[in-house]
Amino acid sequence: MLTPIVSNAQNVLIKPEIEKQIDDLLSRMTLEEKVGQLNQHSGSWDVTGPIPEDNEYVAERARLLKNGGVGSLLNVTGAEATYAAQKLAVENSRLGIPLLFGFDVIHGYKTIFPIPLGEAASWDLDIIEKSTRTAAIEASAAGINWTFAPMVDIGRDPRWGRVMEGAGEDPYLGSQVGLARMRGFQGNDLSEVNTILATAKHLAGYGFSEGGRDYNTVDFSRRTLHNIVLPPFKTLAENGLATVMNSFNDLNGIPASGDRYLQTTLLKEKWGFNGFIVSDWGSIRQMINHGYSKDLEQSALHAITSGNDMDMESEAYQRHLVDLVESGEVDVAVLDESVRRILRTKFLLGLFDDPYKYSDPEREEKLVYSDEHRTIARDVAKRSIVLLKNEKNTLPLSKEISSIAVVGHLAADKDAPLGNWRGRGEPNSAVSLLEGIKAAVSNNTKVNYTEGYTLAANNGSFAFALEYPEDDGSGFEAAIENAKNSDVVVMAVGEEALQSGEGRSLVDISLKGRQLELFKLIREVNENIVVVLMAGRPMIEPELYEGASTILNTWHLGTEAGNAIADVLFGDYNPSGKLPMSIPRAIGQIPVYYNHVSPGRPQTGPGDDGAVFWSHYNDEVNSPQFVFGYGLSYTDFEYSNFELSKNLMNMDETITARVDVTNTGEVPGEEVVQLYIRDHFASSMRPVKELKGFEKVMINAGETKTITFKLDKKTFEFYAADGTWKTEPGMFSIMVGTNSNDVQTLELNIER
Ligand code: BGC
Repeated sequence: MLTPIVSNAQNVLIKPEIEKQIDDLLSRMTLEEKVGQLNQHSGSWDVTGPIPEDNEYVAERARLLKNGGVGSLLNVTGAEATYAAQKLAVENSRLGIPLLFGFDVIHGYKTIFPIPLGEAASWDLDIIEKSTRTAAIEASAAGINWTFAPMVDIGRDPRWGRVMEGAGEDPYLGSQVGLARMRGFQGNDLSEVNTILATAKHLAGYGFSEGGRDYNTVDFSRRTLHNIVLPPFKTLAENGLATVMNSFNDLNGIPASGDRYLQTTLLKEKWGFNGFIVSDWGSIRQMINHGYSKDLEQSALHAITSGNDMDMESEAYQRHLVDLVESGEVDVAVLDESVRRILRTKFLLGLFDDPYKYSDPEREEKLVYSDEHRTIARDVAKRSIVLLKNEKNTLPLSKEISSIAVVGHLAADKDAPLGNWRGRGEPNSAVSLLEGIKAAVSNNTKVNYTEGYTLAANNGSFAFALEYPEDDGSGFEAAIENAKNSDVVVMAVGEEALQSGEGRSLVDISLKGRQLELFKLIREVNENIVVVLMAGRPMIEPELYEGASTILNTWHLGTEAGNAIADVLFGDYNPSGKLPMSIPRAIGQIPVYYNHVSPGRPQTGPGDDGAVFWSHYNDEVNSPQFVFGYGLSYTDFEYSNFELSKNLMNMDETITARVDVTNTGEVPGEEVVQLYIRDHFASSMRPVKELKGFEKVMINAGETKTITFKLDKKTFEFYAADGTWKTEPGMFSIMVGTNSNDVQTLELNIER
């Protein structure tokens, strides 16, 4: 059964008794105190020690903190530090309003889970929710009550390093995954001590930065905005989301931090969002660089009047908002509304009852990095792995195998699996692939490791350029020798931790250094080679994809990476992940994504009639290397008896699509059954395929399960040419299958 993604729960953040308390507090606040609630600073000194009075910048910030001039701190973590900062604010300020502590808990706090793109590949909403729930439990025990996640930006361009933080290219999957992540962070009741505020970011269009270059301008159509980019934001906003972060980019000439249409008209007014909007880091100030405001004061004016509630590190509100209100340029009611939204979350979290509830060293000690959390991390990680190829059924390997050559710098790397945005994950704290393999095999198995190629080491900094030191090939010989003398080779290739992430856009997303070269040499001496691809994004390397018979795409899987990969290598877990983003064949194909509109001419092949006017490249086919939704299992699934309950449906009806899925292989396995639609004629062109449902189901060997999807007019809704959301009657295709390319199709007509 398809879970509804919108439950009309807009009002979950509104509690009349809290609104009354906010009225009372607002009536007692000075203008300065109100503006203070809108300021967010990054931790500037060790709050557990004395304030460095000789540093004017820090001293000013400390004064503000003590006077109620700061509403939130970011990047101050740990029970002790958050306690100390909270004490400064609460005990010194006139009204004692508690702080919010924000931090980027993107895929774990200290126990690190797979990067979000990897988790999305599990298509397992329960496990994703469990992962973020666990991250929230850890983070909240370390004093954090607000995470800047999930990032729900749709990504069609793997050059953009931040695709690692999202759920891939599809708005439906992105909405479902975003919702699961939000539910995990926020739990059922924000007043519980282990829940934290979630943030949907970045409103909007950041994933479409031109050329895949981070922080670049964004320019796309209204239909792309509404049909592709906004659905995850809308879904979360309508289901109790606490905060939204806007974006560095402009959209069609308006910087997101000053975009009234996005922030106020749509999010707050139309979708009924009752949480608050925080700017991205310095993005209010950045409106000057955009050429949209002449100075910081005008930036503040643009931001507050367009609906941006909190200022992260621009100091625009801090320096100018009091004057703007006093001069009448900003109505105090506008300010009050923003303050109300921020105070609302503080009340909902229960911070007015106990401002220190999150800062409990005992909980921190007990929960952070606990064995239980590591077990969950392993479970999530194994479910996120995608089996791309297993042509010779090399996998799963026997644990009794006599020798395994483990090759590649990344195979022994204990840092790369943590990926970028690893919270407070300790450097080098992941279980490496080598360690995972060693722990899994029998005592009789010889595991020989050779580094083979070299790769840049993670230097831990937020550097914008990585250096790739020349690999002199001195490790090649030993690796080749090792491969020659072993039954099987497990070779790890891919990206080191900081090769993807914020500020990590690349024009070349093939394997760096000499990884491919070594792979080819090794294949010559041992064809029994399993490639383990660890990366933060889809990588382009046709020679690898075509030349290897066995490939596991393992992303950056987090703390338990090596154990999780070993679970799959040795068949303790049958892989079930499916790609949330297409893997292109060539950089020049980008953007390549499954839900494109029809280019007009029939999509036959070069050489066929009509090839001249057919949208194609002369030097490459159109299709990606691996399509959206693709992923193999150690068993096979057969689809049969696909039926619709009706072929003609009217707008008030709910019909069902059902299909039988049989596990025809020898071992139990999970299949992600995917449902796509196509709207053949509409007032605005519709994609050739759109995901509208999926179900991940465990099927035993020989067993058949019937999967049912409910379809009603909501399933077919889109942003039509007249600017409204609706279902237009007409002809549709309903498709089910194992990936976006391999589907069965039935026709459906919809009438008024
Ligand atoms: C990123 C945000 C992040 C913020 C705070 C910015 O550079 O774009 O996604 O939440 O920093 O760390």
